[in-house]
Amino acid sequence: MSDRKAALVTGAGRGIGRGIALALAKINWDVVINYRSNEKAASQTAKLVEDAGGKCIVVKADVGKNSEHSQLLEETLKNFGRIDLLVNNAGVGPRQRLDILEAAEESYDEVMAVNLKGPFFLTQLVAKKMIDLVETGVVETPRIINISSISAYVSSPNRSEYCLSKAGMSMMTALYANRLAGHGIQVFEIRPGIIETDMTSGVKEKYDRLIDEGLTPIRRWGKAEDVAQAVVAIAEGNFPFSTGEIINVDGGFHMKRL
Ligand code: NAP
Repeated sequence: MSDRKAALVTGAGRGIGRGIALALAKINWDVVINYRSNEKAASQTAKLVEDAGGKCIVVKADVGKNSEHSQLLEETLKNFGRIDLLVNNAGVGPRQRLDILEAAEESYDEVMAVNLKGPFFLTQLVAKKMIDLVETGVVETPRIINISSISAYVSSPNRSEYCLSKAGMSMMTALYANRLAGHGIQVFEIRPGIIETDMTSGVKEKYDRLIDEGLTPIRRWGKAEDVAQAVVAIAEGNFPFSTGEIINVDGGFHMKRL
């Protein structure tokens, strides 16, 4: 078994997840790059990780389907012999932004499955294994990080299902942090603000303008690397007496201002 630590990052083919995978590789972690359908992007992430001197595997699995979770954990253990970190990053917005009065059941189910139900049950599966690994001395302080959003508390009635899923993820963070602390497992939530990825490419002009006008005290788009640096700080154990903690990576957006 390797002495190197291993992380499972969901949705690591593109965007924020890719940034996280790469940042972990740069601190010598082994990384499981999960993706759902864009194989080419996932292979590019793997290449970037390898070019940075990291070791990784790529695993295709739909986080929204509980039946596909066990292979994620099995492949992690088979290849790296341990799991020190789960990053619940995979997420989707609604295919179509519709007013809450028109919101459709299929969209609600799809967004909730990927953003909340999937992470909830994947965490359950991984947490049980982490408990075993702590008890058998294979890992010391495993950690779980949930990538939520400012949408956990900002009301956007034109993507209500997304906001609900992220608000649910915040409670999920508190629930698992509470339950797992006694087993030496820490759970954190990172709340990104407006981050430049494929997810926000369709609303780029709108946010360019809002940021110029002062929407965020730090007047720039967030980058995947900004989120990844927060993940690395947690992964390296810099918050030993914290759990259930929320870290805003949003250019100061969350502050009430006058
Ligand atoms: P993105 O650029 O759209 O990338 C999403 C990644 O998640 C892709 O790798 C995608 O895989 C994967 N994915 C989607 N559904 C999946 C599923 N069912 N199973 C497995 N993987 C799946 O998104 P992003 O902007 O990086 O967002 C990452 C996370 O940050 C999400 O949870 C999002 O809600 C959150 N967030 C983003 C922002 C922002 O401004 N961008 C702000 C706050 C929070 P494929 O490549 O195979 O499609």
